[in-house]
Amino acid sequence: MSGYLLTGGRVVDPASGTDATNDVLIRDGLVVEVGSAIDAGDAETIDCTGLVIAPGLVDLHTHLREPGREDEETIASGSAAAAAGGYTALCAMPNTDPVADSASIVEKVWALGREAGLVDVIPAGALSKGLLGTEMSDIGEMARSIAGVRLFTDDGKGVQDSLFVRRCMEYLLAFDGVYAEHCEDAALAAGGQMHEGDRSMELGLRGIPAEAEELMAARDIALARLTGCRLHLLHISTVGTVELVRRAKADGLRVTAEATPHHFSLTDEILTTYDPNAKVNPPLRTDTDRMAIVKGLADGTIDAIATDHAPHADHEKDQEFSYAPPGLIGLETALALTITNLVEPGHLPLVDALDRLSTSPARILGLDDHGGPIAAGSGANLVVFDPTAEWVVDATSSYSKSHNTPFAGMALRGKARHTFFRGRQTVRDSIVLADTLAAGGAR
Ligand SMILES: [Zn+2]
Ligand SMILES: [Zn+2]
Repeated sequence: MSGYLLTGGRVVDPASGTDATNDVLIRDGLVVEVGSAIDAGDAETIDCTGLVIAPGLVDLHTHLREPGREDEETIASGSAAAAAGGYTALCAMPNTDPVADSASIVEKVWALGREAGLVDVIPAGALSKGLLGTEMSDIGEMARSIAGVRLFTDDGKGVQDSLFVRRCMEYLLAFDGVYAEHCEDAALAAGGQMHEGDRSMELGLRGIPAEAEELMAARDIALARLTGCRLHLLHISTVGTVELVRRAKADGLRVTAEATPHHFSLTDEILTTYDPNAKVNPPLRTDTDRMAIVKGLADGTIDAIATDHAPHADHEKDQEFSYAPPGLIGLETALALTITNLVEPGHLPLVDALDRLSTSPARILGLDDHGGPIAAGSGANLVVFDPTAEWVVDATSSYSKSHNTPFAGMALRGKARHTFFRGRQTVRDSIVLADTLAAGGAR
């Protein structure tokens, strides 16, 4: 048999704005036909009645931890978690050990992604050597390398030196690169454990004010205006930052932004249990902030939903809140959190939610083969999911090597059933296929 015929699914394609029941024929890595009553020929038929067929999800923000912390995640295990979550491409953050600040490291990450063969792993490059925020990394070499780096960031921390930001932006213009910022003023945020507000006072934990994020976002937008560089704001989390992005877009600046599922799903209320798995950076904010993120995603001010998947070893998370590192795993829960907390309550129609999870991030990364359209001649990077399936998050059954999620035990709706990467099925009935796993060496 060659290829697959997906029959009777609800094809939701943000790239073309279509939402209709159809069959989709995949062959030789491409979508070859979309329509009704397509002849399967020698293709394997997969019944998609009651399921949604959509462009494979694209994550702008994944920490894969390799090289350096292969005990927490590898490129293969992270790729498996991504495929299980319905993803076909992800952008790997550069805060590895060694830091991805040269062509040789990003090419290694890219090659390991190809070897795993479950999703396109697009490395992000560091802006500064060693993430020290002083000396520029080999930006040009990384952009020209086989890895085709487009997004550059010192994620994990904000770049504090404004002149350095300006120099990076001016340099990136030559490659039409994206300057991506983890907005955090280090002095204001120093020692902070959670969002600064009533809850931090009550819990006796040192807070990080919203202004630590907003000051840097405002500075970067000003410098994007000055230089003309593309700017992408990572994991925005406050009312004020959403408003800054809204104004920058109205002014015609090339500014994009992402938000995480945890910032539109949770608030600092969850920290009354002192669960280290709910410690993230930027921190979970108030419900007013959460609703601003929801509205920003609904009206398109926030372009993308990104996971900030950040695996940590059990022994590092299983300690007192103040000592635990920030971050949570998110690749296998993002789709369900989006359906449960954005689509089902009526904040976003499904087609818009899928735009934020796939089409829009693919455009920011410059990936032509991802994000749709689902039409003849397009790359067959697709997810088939059940929008009504109810399941309970079980961290121990994750394909990730780490288990740090505050969503464990929660009932969510929506689950990826089948994932197709370059026309090959990587996930069947929510299970990453053993032969692709063996090939990639994951788990
Ligand atoms: Zn960050
Ligand atoms: Zn991050």
